[in-house]
Amino acid sequence: MQNTTTPPAWNELLERLSEVADLRGAGALAHWDQATLLPSGSASGRGRMLGTLSKLAHERFINPRVGEVLNLNEDFARQEQIQGNEFPSRLLATTRRDYDKATRVPSEFEARFASHCAQIYSKWEEARGESNFGKVAPLLEKTLDLSRELASFFPHKHIADPLIDSSDAGETVESVRAVFTPLREALVPLVREVIQKPLASDAVLRGHFPLQEQGAFATQVIQSIGYDFSRGRMDFSAHPFMTKFALDDVRITIRGDEREWGELFFSALHEAGHALYEQNIDPHFDGTPLAEGASSGVHESQSRLWENLVGRSPAFWDFYFPRAQSTFPALQNASQDEFLKAINRVKRSLIRTDADELTYNLHVLIRFDLELEMLEGKLAVRDLPDAWNARYQSDLGLDVPDDARGCLQDVHWFSGLIGGAFQGYTLGNILAAQLFETAQRELGDLNAQFARGEFAPLREWLTQHVYRFGATMLPHQVVVQATGRALELGPYLGYLKGKFGG
Ligand code: ZN
Repeated sequence: MQNTTTPPAWNELLERLSEVADLRGAGALAHWDQATLLPSGSASGRGRMLGTLSKLAHERFINPRVGEVLNLNEDFARQEQIQGNEFPSRLLATTRRDYDKATRVPSEFEARFASHCAQIYSKWEEARGESNFGKVAPLLEKTLDLSRELASFFPHKHIADPLIDSSDAGETVESVRAVFTPLREALVPLVREVIQKPLASDAVLRGHFPLQEQGAFATQVIQSIGYDFSRGRMDFSAHPFMTKFALDDVRITIRGDEREWGELFFSALHEAGHALYEQNIDPHFDGTPLAEGASSGVHESQSRLWENLVGRSPAFWDFYFPRAQSTFPALQNASQDEFLKAINRVKRSLIRTDADELTYNLHVLIRFDLELEMLEGKLAVRDLPDAWNARYQSDLGLDVPDDARGCLQDVHWFSGLIGGAFQGYTLGNILAAQLFETAQRELGDLNAQFARGEFAPLREWLTQHVYRFGATMLPHQVVVQATGRALELGPYLGYLKGKFGG
């Protein structure tokens, strides 16, 4: 992307940004190693190493010289843009946005916040073990204060806006509510209707499924959707995740159980969806802030799209069920229909991470509403368990027996901030359906392609319309650019009603 007239300030900017990217990549590598291979007695040295790497990356990025170099490149970027090269101006815009965010927060606050995070995390583990919310409540109060303080460094309309913006740039309480309120109104009755039906059996998914065979099957499938193993790996970890050290090294981790079929496969497909996004970002963006997904919501749209809209569809299993049967003797007497019903069954759960595709969003909406009420001061921390339990009763019809299976179950509020921690999951589900519908309109019958084991057209469409752009656009711009419309509920509700209703 450089030519002979490239000014020295441009090279300096790229050099500084790639140093930051490499330090962050080294941190991600140390973290990946911690989650997959690190001996159990080595945590303390690793913690120190991770702290050092993240401090160095942060210091390098907020160096005032970065701000100067951004200014020095304005003219160059404008000229390049006139000549049709968008890269410099996009890079300046995205880097400036990140730089502005990073430099508004005083380092004194960062340090206070980091030490609070470490403290509340270990207290939360204890409190959850004893199912005793009271134990961690005073620290959660402090998290609320810190979250409000963080928000106060940024201009905002609602106190949660800057917190939401940090993971879903450009989104606000207002914009998220505009889709979440009608979603809840549609979902609660739909769930009520679906759970009247007899519960499908998932017995077909239980038996003996050696992890090695499950891993080999998942490998074959994620390769067929386009995950590139020459620039990635798949390993086991306690919590599945996708991580990236550079655009040519995007790894995923999975989790599984040899007594049941499902968790390993769908964790692989979910994380491979995240990885397809990263592996298909324009390689010229490597080493810059453009080499990222647009937001947590857009990222999640990709993991959900491949996991659910593709991987739980009948057409997908028209192709893969016979192959699964020949891999797993335990599936040989099952019918494809039984299998499909089992992997798509709707069963209300107290636990978000166990939830099915239909009820999952209700868990997210509950958390989103409650965190806003706490930030607004309308809900006192000590009343959180009662408010939580009341919502599980009204939205899911479930009685919460204890805090461990209630408001203590997720790590999010107890490891960082309140506000903005959960909305990306549901924004991703909604967007996945909208993207899929648009791709289907442009590519013809996707199901017929899946039934033949053809996934390249969909992946290439997503690369063309979403992946290759990385972080050059704000999430709402990605949506309009890819689908021609703003984010809307219609395709998602249509998908859910078509699949589960009636
Ligand atoms: Zn995900």
